[in-house]
Amino acid sequence: MSSDTIAVIGGGPGGLRAAHAVAEVGGKVVLIEQREFLGGTPIAENYSGLTPRGEPAQPQIRQMIDRVTANPLTEIRLGTELAGVTGEPGGFVLKLRSEQANGAQTLECGAIIIATGFGHFDPGRSTQMYGYYEFPDVITQPDLEAMLSEHRVLRPSNGQPPERICFIQCVGSRDRQIGNEYCSKVCCGVASKQAIEIRQLLVDSKVFIFYIDMRMYGYWENEIYWPAQEQHHVQYVKGLITEVLPKGDRLLVRGEDTTMGRPMELPMDLVVLSVGMEPSPGTHEVARLLGVKQNKYGFVEAVGAPLDPVSTDREGIFACGAALGPADLEDTVSSACAAAVKAVGYLRSRPVGAAS
Ligand SMILES: Cc1cc2nc3c(=O)[nH]c(=O)nc-3n(C[C@H](O)[C@H](O)[C@H](O)COP(=O)(O)OP(=O)(O)OC[C@H]3O[C@@H](n4cnc5c(N)ncnc54)[C@H](O)[C@@H]3O)c2cc1C
Ligand code: SF4
Repeated sequence: MSSDTIAVIGGGPGGLRAAHAVAEVGGKVVLIEQREFLGGTPIAENYSGLTPRGEPAQPQIRQMIDRVTANPLTEIRLGTELAGVTGEPGGFVLKLRSEQANGAQTLECGAIIIATGFGHFDPGRSTQMYGYYEFPDVITQPDLEAMLSEHRVLRPSNGQPPERICFIQCVGSRDRQIGNEYCSKVCCGVASKQAIEIRQLLVDSKVFIFYIDMRMYGYWENEIYWPAQEQHHVQYVKGLITEVLPKGDRLLVRGEDTTMGRPMELPMDLVVLSVGMEPSPGTHEVARLLGVKQNKYGFVEAVGAPLDPVSTDREGIFACGAALGPADLEDTVSSACAAAVKAVGYLRSRPVGAAS
């Protein structure tokens, strides 16, 4: 048994771009998404503006969705998850679970692209001293992103606009104690973009970013970092924040200014935690069901990296986007196109009717 269909699991930016790329070159594709809607984290978390230029995120992602839904070579199955796999490369049989379709379905496909993305680090873990679950005015980047989409940044505790706002970088990333030694790549750029948006919205506010070191990839340095300081007066402070405490109706942010080598304590109205990326539960589960190798953090391992960043250790199974590790949208769509080319190439290079 062999099939010329490619299954893409996950309908976020990675899965959408991979599905579109397969269809663009005439391949048949089935896109499987566990939620009842496409668009992945940017739609689920209601992202506001995109780095680096701040274009509204929703129309950009909707455009990706429309391109895929309009293509007759693409079939979309929403509310559907992988439950198991049998068969072999070139002729896999996926067992799918869907509440809508009343139970199990099967899908024959020749190749698979995993695009199951990431989850946010939970800042409530015991090592974290920032009071996320204790103080309403301690929020995460995704929480702020949703507020910015509504053009309303208010303190959850009292509904008033905050005057003093700070970001704490590297929450759940670059942290050996919890085993996440890696850098999550996007949070420095996203914090700086969000800081600009706050300064535009609340013109009298003071915005601080506490960082270990700022990691701006490529052009983001000039496109976000310098404008944040020079045009929008965002204050970057190199320092380690050790705890957040309540003080009156404000929060006290305590730590060390590492440039000056002295302790610091600053009152804030709103504290934003720049939480890192971890593999989504779906990435763990799909990798396990398909039997592909995961790295020590649980992301899917690209065994041929750096020169082949999308092949897994199982023939006929590829991965893209944040299922492979922390990724911004540019990384995500690049790896999605690469995975699509590899999957189509794999099927087209097989002798007709071959099963391995
Ligand atoms: C706060 C924040 C702001 C950001 N802003 C920007 C920005 O401005 N610019 C930028 O370039 N990047 C930004 N990013 C990064 C961006 O969100 C990611 O690059 C992008 O979402 C990765 O896309 P993805 O498709 O790989 O994963 P995701 O967006 O996580 O999508 C994965 C999809 O797979 C689905 N799925 C998971 N498991 C299963 C399963 N078992 N079966 C079926 N479906 C499943 C999920 O439901 C989801 O729809 C930001 C990240 C954060 C945290
Ligand atoms: S991008 Fe910045 S905030 Fe995020 S983990 Fe890397 S250094 Fe830390």
